[in-house]
Amino acid sequence: MFNSTLKKPLQLSTSTHQLAKYYTQTKTRTLARSQGRVVILGSGWAGFKLMKDLDKKNYDVSVVSPRNYFVFTPLLASTSVGTLEFRCITEPVRTYSKDINFYQATCDKIDLENQVIHCVSNIDNASGRKSFLLDYDKLVIGVGSYSNTFGIPGVEEHACFLKDVNDARKIRKRLVECFENASQPGTTEKEKQDLLHFVIVGGGPTGVEFSAELHDFITDDLSRLYPDLIDKTRMTLYDVAPTILSSFDSKLSDYAHKKFNRKGIQIKTRKKILPYGLLVWSTGLMQNPLVESLSTVAKDASGQRILTDGQLRVLDKDTKLPYPNIYALGDCATIEGNDLPATAQVASQKANYLRKVFNGTAKKGYEVPATEFEYKDRGMMAYIGSYEALVDMSSVHEQATKSGHLSWLLWRSAYFTMSMSMRNKLLIPIHWFLTWALGRDISRF
Ligand SMILES: Cc1cc2nc3c(=O)[nH]c(=O)nc-3n(C[C@H](O)[C@H](O)[C@H](O)COP(=O)(O)OP(=O)(O)OC[C@H]3O[C@@H](n4cnc5c(N)ncnc54)[C@H](O)[C@@H]3O)c2cc1C
Repeated sequence: MFNSTLKKPLQLSTSTHQLAKYYTQTKTRTLARSQGRVVILGSGWAGFKLMKDLDKKNYDVSVVSPRNYFVFTPLLASTSVGTLEFRCITEPVRTYSKDINFYQATCDKIDLENQVIHCVSNIDNASGRKSFLLDYDKLVIGVGSYSNTFGIPGVEEHACFLKDVNDARKIRKRLVECFENASQPGTTEKEKQDLLHFVIVGGGPTGVEFSAELHDFITDDLSRLYPDLIDKTRMTLYDVAPTILSSFDSKLSDYAHKKFNRKGIQIKTRKKILPYGLLVWSTGLMQNPLVESLSTVAKDASGQRILTDGQLRVLDKDTKLPYPNIYALGDCATIEGNDLPATAQVASQKANYLRKVFNGTAKKGYEVPATEFEYKDRGMMAYIGSYEALVDMSSVHEQATKSGHLSWLLWRSAYFTMSMSMRNKLLIPIHWFLTWALGRDISRF
């Protein structure tokens, strides 16, 4: 029996059949599972976490994502300088379940009326990129967000972002390129200084953690390998606010500020024209184009995120009533009247909540009114370099704010514990040890 919330039977409408002549029809593998088809968009903290433990006996689960893996983002900055290797922080979607359909594609349109999504493969082949349609009974939107450039000219073309392993790979390659370039015969002193000026824009956790990792890379490895260039190397962190890590307890953000000053990382707020070798842009989020294309769904005040009710169901723009079978979570969505930060912690808690709702329905065989999602703030952590970190658990206990080496141990153990597969639970400590004992690899390819 199909779930009572289905808007209409599992048939493609006439309009969809007309469209089908332009698209390849993709049917899900089976129509026989009791709770019908769940299509999950995205393989990030929201989509991947939900997919992992969803009841695949009763749901026909399909995942659509332009990348066929999950990225453990809290350790992404470590891979951009080689403290960890890229594969230590990725989890291939397919290895988690043989009982799902995975499509490496981007969803570029959702037809809410006909319960069909339009997808474009992101794999090039001789005849170009294939387009296809998928129909759903329940749709979960977890497409995340893009880096916000605020429309500033040149950022898109010249800056590096830090959202995915490809970004980390690009940064690592560019960093070594700057040092190799500065070592070439005939490079003037001015050229060397410009190439070895590393600029980070954004004093939030991502910008700060990347600065910390880069500082470690320069002091631990590059100073040894390029001794003549080290006095020409500079790092500047820009933010519009005079303080970094403003979401942390003020004592902790002051501590980080002082540490950065002592390490020679300049923190600047003023606009200035400066040459650089590498620019890393990390100033916040902007909406995914798919979210922008959803003209009939409600959005938050900034117009950037999909608005849902407390059960994570997407709200209609005009009626403000929830669509019974469309859910949104992660960075692309927020709950009406309960705005939460765009973090992995929120995304994974929402995914766990939705998994329980879906699995509960499957177990009972019919939809039960779900209790609303409740967020449990477990605090924040940030690495600030030289084996030191900040831990702010003031949401759990007023006094629970810590900085220093002990916090670094906590930071490492927390992320080691949270890493998903046994493979990565082995790879991560091995690479931490190798980096400590032998230094980071600077091969450029
Ligand atoms: C460097 C870095 C460090 C971070 N550190 C922390 C931390 O320490 N703690 C913390 O709580 N949070 C942290 N975050 C934030 C956290 O990673 C995000 O909040 C989280 O990734 C949001 O999960 P999500 O699933 O919504 O989006 P994402 O993880 O970004 O995943 C989105 C998914 O959707 C896919 N997608 C995009 N467009 C489409 C489309 N049109 N169709 C189908 N699929 C699509 C993407 O390929 C991706 O698989 C960090 C973020 C970064 C970048």
